[in-house]
Amino acid sequence: MAKQHFIRSGEYAGKTIEQLALMDYPALLSRRKFLYEGARKGIVRLWPEIKAMDKLYDLLNLFLKEEKCETSECNSLADHIWMPYVIAYNPHTEKNFTDYNFSLYELHCKNHRADGKFERFPLTFDSTTRFSTKTNTNRMNNILLTLLGFYQDKPIRKKTIKEAQKFFDYLRSGRQQELF
Ligand SMILES: [Zn+2]
Repeated sequence: MAKQHFIRSGEYAGKTIEQLALMDYPALLSRRKFLYEGARKGIVRLWPEIKAMDKLYDLLNLFLKEEKCETSECNSLADHIWMPYVIAYNPHTEKNFTDYNFSLYELHCKNHRADGKFERFPLTFDSTTRFSTKTNTNRMNNILLTLLGFYQDKPIRKKTIKEAQKFFDYLRSGRQQELF
């Protein structure tokens, strides 16, 4: 079992970096950037956590590359996730906003596209950083985790220390060993 790195302060104090990766991927990227700045200035004790984070996002994104294109009779690997949307008006803020329908996403390879009004995102966890609201970030994050098998039997899974650890062990095993 890999050494556990705990976050000591802030919104996610007490969580492991595995939990952070599953709960709030953009926050993992921000933390990585922050620690990297410190490490470059000579705080060498930060390197092990930075390296551990790099392994986590390599693992998460590696298995997304196994998803297939949903266009019929295409056997290529998907490289984008397509999200249907409408432009809606929010009378409260008096501004237009992009209203995505997260339940009707499609996966396609580079040669195919979704038919209709869709926005295209790369099929990686970095796409979670493309949204302006936390709700949309979380929805994208949950779709990607579901593709990796995180929600197998229950619609909502708690991301406890143990479960997050187990999930990454499952990815490290090449998604061979049993999950939950
Ligand atoms: Zn295709």
